[in-house]
Amino acid sequence: MVGVWVGNADGEGRPGLTGIGAAAPILFDIFDLLPNDKWFTPPYDELAKVPICRKSGMRATDICEPVDSVYVQENGLKTEPCKYHILIHTDKFGYRVNSDCEDVNNMLHKSWFVLPPVQEWYYKSTDPTYVRLPPYRTDCQSFEILPLQLIYPEHNAEIYIPLEISGEKGKVIFKAAHRKQSSTIFWHIDNSYIGSTKSIHEKGLNISEGEHTITLVDELGNSITRQFSIVGRN
Ligand SMILES: [Zn+2]
Repeated sequence: MVGVWVGNADGEGRPGLTGIGAAAPILFDIFDLLPNDKWFTPPYDELAKVPICRKSGMRATDICEPVDSVYVQENGLKTEPCKYHILIHTDKFGYRVNSDCEDVNNMLHKSWFVLPPVQEWYYKSTDPTYVRLPPYRTDCQSFEILPLQLIYPEHNAEIYIPLEISGEKGKVIFKAAHRKQSSTIFWHIDNSYIGSTKSIHEKGLNISEGEHTITLVDELGNSITRQFSIVGRN
């Protein structure tokens, strides 16, 4: 089998990087290298039938579903089991809880497929069956792990700003994702507040050359800080 995928591991798109333009030529180059032979017998002695999580493609754990049985090369047994199905605890109304705010006997336990916020942001736009984690009940909220992430820029990114056709300096488009759709994010550059976003977390800004810090804070006080630099223009 030949499979070629070209792109970013988190699913972020790149203009011009299409399957036909980037992946297909590699695929056909590989086909050209293969001998023109008849179909082979699978080497079952070196294969193991393994339960695989259909959602993540990793080895299935007890809480993965649906699960497929797939023949994989024996080394596949050494790979990491699925880390994207987690067990969550909810109350009878479906709000997430934990043992600090709810009696364990009253909890329901459910398996949930959860991607990190940035991956979730791209993934859910193409998979309508993806259901975000239910929110924590109000009295349990402070225990949530960081629900806020910066998509762009990456840590220590060096950003080059081209001139627009008009001769003006282009803007840098900053992007963030929040696990809770309705959240407001408050944006700061070099510790100065520059505005907020709700639902769609994108900001286009003119930023001077040099080193900068971006800090995002949500209503619950979760925050993330990252360094980046704007490099000189030609
Ligand atoms: Zn899984």
